[in-house]
Parts: sequence; C-alpha cells; structure tokens
Amino acid sequence: MEPRKKSSVEGQELKDHIIEFCEAQGADLVGFAPVERWDDAGEVPPDFRPRTLWPPARTVIVIGLEMPLPIVETTPSVLHMELYRTANRKLDTLAYDLTRHLNRMGHASFFFGRDVYANLKALRDAPMAAFSHVMAAKYAGLGTIGVSHCLLTPEFGPRVRFVSVFTAAVIPPDPLVEKDLCIKCELCCLCCPKKSLTMREDCVIGDYDKMACLAMAEDLTRRGCYPCGICTKVCPIGKDRVLYKQKGMRTKYLEEAKALAANPDDPEYKSWTHVRKYGLTKGKAAPVSRTGKDGKKKEA
Ligand code: SF4
Ligand code: SF4
Repeated sequence: MEPRKKSSVEGQELKDHIIEFCEAQGADLVGFAPVERWDDAGEVPPDFRPRTLWPPARTVIVIGLEMPLPIVETTPSVLHMELYRTANRKLDTLAYDLTRHLNRMGHASFFFGRDVYANLKALRDAPMAAFSHVMAAKYAGLGTIGVSHCLLTPEFGPRVRFVSVFTAAVIPPDPLVEKDLCIKCELCCLCCPKKSLTMREDCVIGDYDKMACLAMAEDLTRRGCYPCGICTKVCPIGKDRVLYKQKGMRTKYLEEAKALAANPDDPEYKSWTHVRKYGLTKGKAAPVSRTGKDGKKKEA
C-alpha cells in the first residue's frame, strides 16, 4: 500500500471539504471544536478529554442528525426505538467514513462511536460515558446545555443525536453559542416519568438523578421500546416545531399522562397511542409507571 502523504488541503479549505463530505452523506449539523476548549472550560474531567483518549487529536468534528419530532412524540414506542437505532447506526457510519476519508487525505483521524456501553447493567455499575458527545457538540458551537442535560440546538432543540471524529489536523473552530437556548420552562422536569430532573435557580442545568433515569431505561428495555426521551419530546426549543406546526404544545404534553390514565383511547392522543399499542413484546403497550410526590409508583 502506498504510504499516505500529508494532504495539501488544510485550514478553511479542509473545513469546507469536510462539511461538504458530511452533508453529502446526510449530516444535518457539523461543528468544529479545538481540543483546547476542553482544557479552557475545565468542565470535563481530564481523563474524559479528547487528548487523553487520543493524544494526537487537535480538532474534534461533531456531526448531528435530526430526530424527527412526530416520531419522538410517540415515545415510548417501537417506532421511536427504531429511529434511535437508525440514527445511531447512521452516525457511526458517518464517523467511520469521515475518519477513513481523512486518513486517506493524510490527516490522521479517530472516531468515538455512539452508545459505547455493553448494556444497561454496565451503566448501572459505572453510570458515565467514556466520552461525552453532548459536551463535544457544545464546544463545537452547535448549541447550549439545557436543564434536561441535553444539548439544545437552534435547529432541532434537543431532538438531535451526535457523534465525534477526532483529527490531528488543525481546523478553524466554530464560535461557541453564547446565549443560553434553554428558557427554563421546566417542562422537561414536569413531564419526566421518574422525576429525574429538578430545576435549580443557581445553575443552568438541573439536578439529574441518573439512577432514576436508568430505571426508566430498564423498564422500557424489558418492554422492548427503549429509550425514553420524553424530556427531548417536550422541549419547546427548535425550529423543527415551526416546520411541523407543533408550537404551543405545553398543555397537551403536561396533561398526557393524566388524560390517558382516565381514558387510554383519548382522541387527543390517538396518533401516539395507536403507535404505542403495536410491535411490543407482549403485543400491547404496557403502562408507563410514574413516581408520584409520595415516592410511590403510579401508572399512566
Ligand atoms: S424543556 Fe424547558 S427547561 Fe427543559 S431543557 Fe427545554 S427549554 Fe430548558
Ligand atoms: S429520558 Fe425519560 S426518565 Fe430520563 S430524564 Fe428524560 S424524561 Fe426523565
């Protein structure tokens, strides 16, 4: 095999080339973060920063794919689970292809795949990812982190998934998003079936009970319709709501659990409940258990 020569394509020209490559493969968002941003911000522990994971890294390229709102609204459902899997597969393929493309150009590269954990038990034993794509997307100027701990983007709010490619090439960075996109509406906290999220006055992000959220993921895995994502469904941020004419949904989201507990066939929610009824392990939708203020499980 011919030794790979360093490409003459560098700087802004390389950045434009990468954006064109990613968009041709279907990427919705692409952002560029210099690895120094992890050190400057000091928010991510040193062992979880790009240069620890792969020392030659100089730039992290973050690629995002939209999770279409009307499918996310059906969660928990097999339809939503399939979307989640498809997005993850496509992101891994995009990252793999870009890594090899950059290597062929002579720019050594590495990618950190999507959900890099063996199973939910592994998360229960060590509830932290080896690398955070959410933080990478923030440092690549794609959005800001909301109360829900998700990255909110102007385009899709939190209904977007990310993957990260590290490269030894130095590429002009994208500016950080300075203004918080989260409007602290509290909807993610109020609609969370496990009460995993709590607003804080002193901090942009909320308190997050990882184990309660994980318990929800375990419930849904048993039912065959993982993940939850209700906090991403209800967030009002994102231009996707304009496209789908789905603004002003607060009351409908807030009342969903109560309305369906009273009438599982409530016509207001028919398009979501129909999807939830089919394709599950037992052939019907199991109820979502919610944790009440008294700490006891309730079913909706
Ligand atoms: S639902 Fe509201 S509080 Fe939660 S992340 Fe979105 S904007 Fe922020
Ligand atoms: S994924 Fe579900 S359980 Fe976890 S924080 Fe979001 S709404 Fe709550």
